[in-house]
Amino acid sequence: MTLDEESTQTTAVRLRAALTRVPAYKAGKPAAPRTDLTAYKISSNENPYPPLPSVLDVVRETATEMNRYPDMAVTDLTGRLAEALDVAPECIATGTGSVGVLGQIIAATCDPGDEVVHAWRSFEAYPIVVALAGAESVLVGLDDQQRHRLDAMHAAITDRTRVVIVCTPNNPTGPGVTHTELARFVERVPEHILVVIDEAYVEFVTMDDAPDAVGLQRAHPNVVVLRTFSKAYGLAGLRVGYAVGSPLVAEALRKTAVPFGVSTIAQRAAIASLDAFDELEVRVKDLVAERERVVAALRDQGWEIPDSQANFVWFPIGEDALPFAAACADAGLSVRPFEGDGVRVTIAETEANDRLVEVAGQFRSRP
Ligand SMILES: *Cc1c(COP(=O)(O)O)cnc(C)c1O
Repeated sequence: MTLDEESTQTTAVRLRAALTRVPAYKAGKPAAPRTDLTAYKISSNENPYPPLPSVLDVVRETATEMNRYPDMAVTDLTGRLAEALDVAPECIATGTGSVGVLGQIIAATCDPGDEVVHAWRSFEAYPIVVALAGAESVLVGLDDQQRHRLDAMHAAITDRTRVVIVCTPNNPTGPGVTHTELARFVERVPEHILVVIDEAYVEFVTMDDAPDAVGLQRAHPNVVVLRTFSKAYGLAGLRVGYAVGSPLVAEALRKTAVPFGVSTIAQRAAIASLDAFDELEVRVKDLVAERERVVAALRDQGWEIPDSQANFVWFPIGEDALPFAAACADAGLSVRPFEGDGVRVTIAETEANDRLVEVAGQFRSRP
């Protein structure tokens, strides 16, 4: 039965009222197949490089164990992360991608009617995860450079606030907050409110005064840092992310996790990726160099592209978002438009990046 057919079937099942306020997640579209040219999906900030051979080997070997449940405590990966980050293993909690971990955070902190302060526009999963808990997103607009306004976010805190999320670098707009700003902000947030620092793109950050979020966590038990293997590590399809927080917070996140959510394949692939960090870092550096090249070329064309510290660029073009995305689609590029606001484009293969610059140039000089 398709979803449409299902909708004609009446039911007396009572669903939570909160569900009506949960926005649908619009995933980046796959690129429409083309016979005339290579189509590229540059709509989900995925890593364009195929898995490393060493990681694939581990995945293949581990496939023979899929009749078994994974290690629920994620012991080996947790130990490796703790060592790499110089924190105690008790401070780490894993989940099915960092979006999964964010769901664990909200489930652990928010009752219906509680508030979560975050920037907007920011990661579109935030309002979904918050609304699912029956909690309220308090949206704080970005400044004219597409950056978080941390003072305004601080001013938005009320008696109902349980969580504040700082997305740095910010998806989909690109800039990061500085360590100085973030440290000052964390100092001022009341100790009972959890400050989530979402660092999904941390490996791509090259700015001066970049945040040391794990350092801030060590000094402030109400800080929790979110990281993922989906972006720089190229494991988006395996769903593994983690949080670094105080032992109490990390324990709460283990309680609210999907049991056995992180598969053995994902756990071992993540360890193999940590082992292969040097190889992955070369790829990250290439993507960062491509990002700088694309941003410079677009600015030369006259586009006002904000600073990007991640693996994507943001076109803040308002009403032109859908027409520009359509022009990209015509050229075989599936990008991510946010209607009335802008378009986010992932930095990917050189050919995809070149084609983006070409389409963007044509779009600007259209009659
Ligand atoms: C991609 C992304 C994530 C990570 O998603 P996973 O669930 O780990 O795949 C988290 N936060 C932001 C801002 C992202 O863009």
